[in-house]
Amino acid sequence: MVKRQRIFVTGRVQGVGFRPAVYRIARGLGLSGVVYNDTKGVTIELQGRAEKIAEFLVRLQSNADKPPLAEIKSCNIVDIPAVEDENEFIIQTSDSQGSPLSQVTADIATCRDCLAEMADTEDFRYGYPFINCTNCGPRYSIVKNIPYDRPNTTMSVFEMCDKCAAQYTEVTDRRFHAQPVACGECGPKIRLTDSKGKTIKTQTEKVIAETAHLLSAGNIVAIKGIGGFHLAVDALNNKAVERLRERKKRDHKPFAMMADSVEKIKKYALVSEPAEQLLKSPQSPIVLLPKKRNSSIAPSVAEDVNTYGFMLCYAPLHYLLFEQLNNVGTDVLVMTSGNISDEPLICKNDLALKRLGNVADVFLMHDREIYRQVDDSIVHLVDEQPVFLRRARGYVPSPIFTEENCRQEIFAAGADLKNTFCFAKQNQLICSEHIGDLEDAEVYHHYINSIEHLRKLFEVEPQVVACDLHPAYLSTQYAVSMLNEFAHHPEAKPKHLASRKGEILPLRLRSGLKAFFAQKDNVSMKVIQIQHHWAHIASVLAEHGLSGPVIGLAADGTGYGTDGAIWGCECMIASLEKFERFGHLDYYPLAGADKASKEAVRPALSLLKKAYGRKFTLQKLGWLLERIEPDINRLQIISEQLEKGVNCVETSSLGRVFDAVAAMLGLGSYNHFDAQLPMALEAVIENEIEEQYDFELTNRTGEPLQLDLGKMVKELIADIQKGLTKSVISAKFHNCLAAGLLEMAKAVRESTKLNTVALSGGVFCNRYLTIRCIKLLKKTGFSVLFNREVPSNDGGISLGQAAIAANIYTVS
Ligand SMILES: [Zn+2]
Ligand SMILES: [Zn+2]
Repeated sequence: MVKRQRIFVTGRVQGVGFRPAVYRIARGLGLSGVVYNDTKGVTIELQGRAEKIAEFLVRLQSNADKPPLAEIKSCNIVDIPAVEDENEFIIQTSDSQGSPLSQVTADIATCRDCLAEMADTEDFRYGYPFINCTNCGPRYSIVKNIPYDRPNTTMSVFEMCDKCAAQYTEVTDRRFHAQPVACGECGPKIRLTDSKGKTIKTQTEKVIAETAHLLSAGNIVAIKGIGGFHLAVDALNNKAVERLRERKKRDHKPFAMMADSVEKIKKYALVSEPAEQLLKSPQSPIVLLPKKRNSSIAPSVAEDVNTYGFMLCYAPLHYLLFEQLNNVGTDVLVMTSGNISDEPLICKNDLALKRLGNVADVFLMHDREIYRQVDDSIVHLVDEQPVFLRRARGYVPSPIFTEENCRQEIFAAGADLKNTFCFAKQNQLICSEHIGDLEDAEVYHHYINSIEHLRKLFEVEPQVVACDLHPAYLSTQYAVSMLNEFAHHPEAKPKHLASRKGEILPLRLRSGLKAFFAQKDNVSMKVIQIQHHWAHIASVLAEHGLSGPVIGLAADGTGYGTDGAIWGCECMIASLEKFERFGHLDYYPLAGADKASKEAVRPALSLLKKAYGRKFTLQKLGWLLERIEPDINRLQIISEQLEKGVNCVETSSLGRVFDAVAAMLGLGSYNHFDAQLPMALEAVIENEIEEQYDFELTNRTGEPLQLDLGKMVKELIADIQKGLTKSVISAKFHNCLAAGLLEMAKAVRESTKLNTVALSGGVFCNRYLTIRCIKLLKKTGFSVLFNREVPSNDGGISLGQAAIAANIYTVS
């Protein structure tokens, strides 16, 4: 009995070798039919005996037959009439029906099959540093335009040799339609140059041997990889690492490292089973791992933190290099982003020589152009689950799917720090990779270019633009400029503008949501401003396919509030539709605007004055304050500023409380990089300690609940005077915050019966606090959600903005 079924598959099924896999299984089972891509997934029509079709379905989802990068989200099966005289199974290859959203996939680490071929002296790609296949290699970083086809990648300049072309066109081959396919005969090549770009060595083996030799001798080498240049030095050579720090103008921020096996990493760090899986995953991120005591890693690689960031080799070139490094006795390399300070990662050869010529001693170059720079992703484990600190290579541009289709195309501008942006189109939310801090002019320039590139790549024409509520954010101003451009475009006929005078009027105003729009003819364009912490919580909802309401706990540095204050530690009842501010950390004043996020003395003085009230004098606490700010005049100035409210802003920032406490404990008084002091404070915790400092929740009528940390501050000062260890004090402080957040969540539950808590915000990059909160909340019967697909820091804001905006246009 012959039957025919149509199977519609969604998930990550395009651009990952899914159709060839379907073809192989169907043919093997003697089934006829067709497979093709469409806008939302892959459609398969199968004809044959029922038990064979059933077997097909089992095998399609088995790890043995499924392409390694494919992820099946759903399989919808319907019976359809059989077709007469069909005896073949074919792949309909026209990609024109494929969605531009799913053609471009992420850059993937070298697969096992390719590694085996690279090591096989009989293989024609033996020792070839750019070996790749459908299951691995660069994608996103080499795509210039769509459709994703060789002429639209930076591989277009390399003409395939006959051997490569034969594999590329053979549907059963592992390299069928693998766009970057190449070999030593026809593909890109490596060379070693001096810091002026003059070639020193050319042949692959010689280049690699010389590079390994120079690294083991303590030189700094700029290595061109998949998403950009790395700066590499021997991670065990402290002098070399310090020289790199000095030249790169990076004083304190920890460096990431690379090794060629998990065994090597285990010499220096504790690698749990889930961490090992993550290191070995096709995405190959940097994984933060607890340091082993007395490791021989150079101290200046990662000071004042309790973790090392390690990744495994992910490009064939890395493996070839490490093979040689092993011969000269070098184990692990520092592999830090090839840039100066916080500028964008460098990916072009000429720019690398220009900008890094004074940093690197030599350059390991290649002639495959990187079109888009993509940083390494950074992940750590919370509750044994991977959580992003930076989402980039290996993950971008994989979308997050929504249940409903969005009727509008949306651009979400993100936040100004750790920026990412996001597009919403149909049922996909596509976040950009980590862009950086927009206040750097180079980064801002990169932001604008990136928006344009991705808008083209995914064919998005946004008529809705979401951004932060902060009027001074560069991302907000960019969003508003898009509206202005639309409204005042000389070719447009602005006769239907919302305002007769031509200015743009607010559409509506409700808590945390401000919208502006302009209209011409039948087309309108809107800018929607969204409160920062609401966007944080919305990012968790979006990831989990929920629309709320939930209890949102945002623990964060800073975000613009609806009352003009700087919010940070917020408890809200939040859905994608709206939010209500239920409680927050009691406001304290911060003096000196921008300086306040760097200089710990500012929040420290403010919190002390608030805790002690009239009893506070600079003299009484002189013993403590002098370790934070030795200049008594400066202390006096800031103190007066706080008293008179000069250049002060009210804040509920939790990040600044961490800065203050770290400084009180003598762990430093300045954030040279974001969250340096909070990280140092977390790093000193050694043991599980159950004690905690006290806090108060105050409930004034008509106002949100206030979390008051005055008691905590006083008890903490007393503990310092008693000489209690930093480790214990830090733990008691963290425990106090977790308990305070728990009490706020309980108060919401009492009044609303809600029982799901969503955690987000930059402070939840703190593992100790996050794990503690999850534990306490679960023990108290809450179900707990936290960010898994995007970072909980401001890198996740754009997703939340997009989700809130998309929700407006899916709910009728
Ligand atoms: Zn491969
Ligand atoms: Zn070739």
